Amino acid sequence: MADVMPVLFVGHGSPMNAIEDNDWARGWAEIAREIPRPEAIVCISAHWETEGVAVTAEAAPKTIHDFGGFPQGLYDIAYPAPGSPDLAARAAELLAPTAVRQAADWGFDHGSWSVLRRMYPLADVPMVQLSLDRTIKPADHYALGRRLGALRDEGVLIVGSGDIVHNLRAYDFRKAGVADWAVRFNDEAKRLIAAGDHDPLIHYDRLGPAAEASINSAEHYLPLLYVLGAQRPGETARFFNDDVFAAISMTSVVIG
Ligand code: ZN
Repeated sequence: MADVMPVLFVGHGSPMNAIEDNDWARGWAEIAREIPRPEAIVCISAHWETEGVAVTAEAAPKTIHDFGGFPQGLYDIAYPAPGSPDLAARAAELLAPTAVRQAADWGFDHGSWSVLRRMYPLADVPMVQLSLDRTIKPADHYALGRRLGALRDEGVLIVGSGDIVHNLRAYDFRKAGVADWAVRFNDEAKRLIAAGDHDPLIHYDRLGPAAEASINSAEHYLPLLYVLGAQRPGETARFFNDDVFAAISMTSVVIG
C-alpha cells in the first residue's frame, strides 16, 4: 500500500517560469524532491476551461503552447510525459455521477507543463489533465476535488495549477510595485487555508473588494478549490514560493 500522497497547489505565474532559472522554478524542483515520488499525476490547470468536465485520455498527449508573444525558446519546449487512459477512466469513475468526457482534443497546456517540467524534468511520471467546467459553481469544484481525493491512496499526486491572485487587467502599470489589494487578499487566503476554514474560500464572492479584484475571472483561483477539497481532517497546509508581484500571486500550498 502506497503512502497517502500530498496535494499540491502551485502558483504558476508567467509561462517564462518554464525556462527561466529563478527561485520559483527552483521551489518547484525542490518540492518534488521533498514529497514521495508519485506513480501518476492529475493536474487541474487554469488554462483548460470547458463546458462539462473533461479529462485528457490519450496515451501520448501533445504539448500545447497556449500563449502568444513569447520567445521562440518557449515554443520549442515539449513535455513528453505519457498520458494515462487508465487514470483518466479512474478519475471519471470517482467523479460519477458527474459525467466526465474522455478527451482527445487537448493535451498538456502551460498550466501543467511549465511547472511539471521543473518538478519531473525527465517527463517520466504519467499525467492527465482535468478541465475546469465553467458551468458549475465554486462549491461544485470543491466537491469534485473531494471525490478526486481518493486518488491520494493510489499513489496519485493531485496538482492544482493557477494563481491565488491573478488580475493584470486591474493592475496599474504606471504605479508599478505590488497592488495592495493583491497582497491583502493573498494574506487573507493564506490565513483561511492555514486555519482549514474553506467555506469563505469557496464563497469568495462574499469576501469583499480585494477578493473580487484578485480572483476576477476565477480560472486561476478555481484549481485551489480542488486541492482544498482533497484535504483530509487533521492535515495541515504549508506554503512555499510565497510571493506576490504586480497582481499575481506565486504562493503555493502543499497539504498532507
Ligand atoms: Zn496561467
